[in-house]
Amino acid sequence: MNYLRRRLSDSTFISNLPNGYMTDLQRPDPAQPPPPASTTPAKSPTAGPTPPATSPAPERKPQPAQSTGAGFFSSITNVVKQTAASAGLVEQTQVTTPKKFKILLVIDEPQQEWAKLFRGKKVYGDYDIKVEQAEFNEINIVAHANGTCSVNMQVLRNGTKVVRSFKPDFVLIRQHAFSMTQNEDFRNLIIGLQYGGVPSINSLESIYNLCDKPWVFAQLINTYRKLGPEKFPLIEQTFYPNYKEMVSMPSFPVVVKIGHAHSGIGKVKVDNHTKFQDIASVVALTQTYTTTEPLIDSKYDIRIQKIGTDYKAYMRTSISGNWKTNTGSAMLEQVAMTDRYKLWVDTCSEIFEGLDICAVKAIHGKDGRDYITEVVGSSMPLVGEHQAEDRQLIADMVLARMNQLAEKEANAPQRPTTIQPSQGAGQKGEIVGEPTKNGAGRPPQGCLQYILDCNGVAVGPKPVQAN
Ligand code: ATP
Repeated sequence: MNYLRRRLSDSTFISNLPNGYMTDLQRPDPAQPPPPASTTPAKSPTAGPTPPATSPAPERKPQPAQSTGAGFFSSITNVVKQTAASAGLVEQTQVTTPKKFKILLVIDEPQQEWAKLFRGKKVYGDYDIKVEQAEFNEINIVAHANGTCSVNMQVLRNGTKVVRSFKPDFVLIRQHAFSMTQNEDFRNLIIGLQYGGVPSINSLESIYNLCDKPWVFAQLINTYRKLGPEKFPLIEQTFYPNYKEMVSMPSFPVVVKIGHAHSGIGKVKVDNHTKFQDIASVVALTQTYTTTEPLIDSKYDIRIQKIGTDYKAYMRTSISGNWKTNTGSAMLEQVAMTDRYKLWVDTCSEIFEGLDICAVKAIHGKDGRDYITEVVGSSMPLVGEHQAEDRQLIADMVLARMNQLAEKEANAPQRPTTIQPSQGAGQKGEIVGEPTKNGAGRPPQGCLQYILDCNGVAVGPKPVQAN
């Protein structure tokens, strides 16, 4: 009783009540209809839309009015039960259907519609796939040490801001997790996903490691040492942790690459000592590292990509004459995949314990030599005529990995689960987390929708379908 009193005086609890509960609590209880003659098995709050009722609605007989007090408390009890059940704290007394879908979170721009690539697809155990797609800046994460993780995703529905909350079973990351341009640091979300144990393509470790270009280049230096300059022609590069040592260069022109950014941002061509010092003075304001490379008199850029076991090579030639071929207009052509290119991309795909999706970037100089400059991971933009095919390859790889995981999960010996204390629970007379099939006290893995008012305050959760 004390618990109920405490919970009812808690404003968060009240604001999270499903629509209509407050009005229900405030008005005197009307006459209660009798329970339906036959009970339909209760649907898990995560299991999608309710199938249409096949039997006629049970006849409602008038009941003698109950006392207001009794109605009030039964109403409270129901609210507590439903709220606790929707939070996964109690097992509902009615029969629940086990979740028959896996949630795939795809981090990508909305223009790339991933859901259609997974439509009708199943994973081991006859699970459907629900695709939740969002950009990094639309999601947030809460992860717990017991392996649970809830992704909150903001979506606009008919002009209303809605937050969906779900536990992804897998994540595909197609956006850069970090760029030093404003508001583009999502490494905290990568940490959250890792903390919550969400399997991913590419691996979350590799994504985190790819968030500093010189850190990646350090791996390429190791490969260069192993394979030698003939097989692995890595560009010469110098690293400066800050501006202080940027005093002089042995030769010019050079390219100065400031911090970690993409699409040509922060790359400056420097022709002489005076300009180099000017750039060093700008770097002084940035609080970041810098690398310098000789400016290659380039004929074209090379990109060798590997998606699973599919290889493609492209050359990109500047049309507008910009020394950065990814800035201004350029011509892209697919070129033959040679053994040399295959060796580059295969060895690079082994860094950070493996990159499922990666591309090696190099410059082919007018001197006829190649210069490897960089490796990029699963956030690499797709290019050329075969983008649709590449997207399908990525989807197939995700599906195969989800299958493997589902099979492993199904065949894993059932380990005894421990009860995890939940927030505010665990005291005598309170509802504590019940071990569920998926893990100790794990909240339901479906979607919970919160309608937010114009001030961003939740005005009520209600179970919704994920897609
Ligand atoms: P991404 O978007 O893939 O993260 P980026 O565009 O930010 O990379 P780079 O690819 O390093 O950075 O540089 C941009 C372009 O500048 C390259 O595509 C290449 O055409 C040109 N470039 C880079 N380094 C050199 C160099 N050392 N010499 C000549 N041209 C270079």
